[in-house]
Amino acid sequence: MVHFVGAGPGAPDLITLRGAALLERADQVIYAGSLVNPALLTRCRADCRILNSAEMTLEQVLAAVEEAEAQGRTTVRLHTGDPSLYGAVREQMAALDERGIDYDVTPGVSSFCAAAAGLRAEYTLPGLSQSLIITRMAGRTPVPGRESVEALAQHGASMVLFLSAGMLEQLQAALLRGAYTADTPAAIVYKASWPEERCLRCTLSTLAETARAAQITKTALVLVGDFLGADFTRSRLYAPDFTTGFRKGADGI
Ligand code: SAH
Repeated sequence: MVHFVGAGPGAPDLITLRGAALLERADQVIYAGSLVNPALLTRCRADCRILNSAEMTLEQVLAAVEEAEAQGRTTVRLHTGDPSLYGAVREQMAALDERGIDYDVTPGVSSFCAAAAGLRAEYTLPGLSQSLIITRMAGRTPVPGRESVEALAQHGASMVLFLSAGMLEQLQAALLRGAYTADTPAAIVYKASWPEERCLRCTLSTLAETARAAQITKTALVLVGDFLGADFTRSRLYAPDFTTGFRKGADGI
């Protein structure tokens, strides 16, 4: 059995209770060493076989899983944040399907949630944006043309960009070709939830320069949108005049 587990964004106590229990029982752990906090591995049994997937190919990961399966041993495949975002899990699941190896998935706290927490922000604010676009700049992994940053930026919605901290000049220019302006609030969050977390607020016009001054080129998210600004509208849900299924408001409906 293989358990795909979301390790959370970095802080070792941001893994789920289910993920922690699976780590504690695992015979083998294959962790994404580029981003998973090694402190999580202290949960593993002393006799657990621990492999760092940053140094492995998909084939080598699968070979290690098959070896464990042949001995009736369980594997935890530990991915950073939530496995469903930029986790390259689908190809692993497809290979396990082909081999008839059973697996399940335990979600994790994605780094974009930890970044909002670090900034004390809410992505969805009434009157500003009710959508969050999660995307990335094209790099060695291409992005379909219809999903280019500038195309998505036409919406002016709240946006969070993964895997793009190394190309902020291009990112800034692409975002400015959309509905955002030079004054649109932005932020760079480096290592959200880690002890070395840094939350840098800026505007779209100062995005690249802010990251350069702080020497941030990786392990960071870029957030952009009016949700990072000072203005917002109160929610209807908690308004005194608003009746819900749980509370009668002054509107008497
Ligand atoms: N599955 C992960 C994302 C993996 S892609 C998740 O749900 O968070 C790797 C990218 O995620 C990094 O390049 C960076 O952009 C972002 N990232 C991962 N952890 C981060 C953290 N703690 N703080 C800021 N960005 C992070």
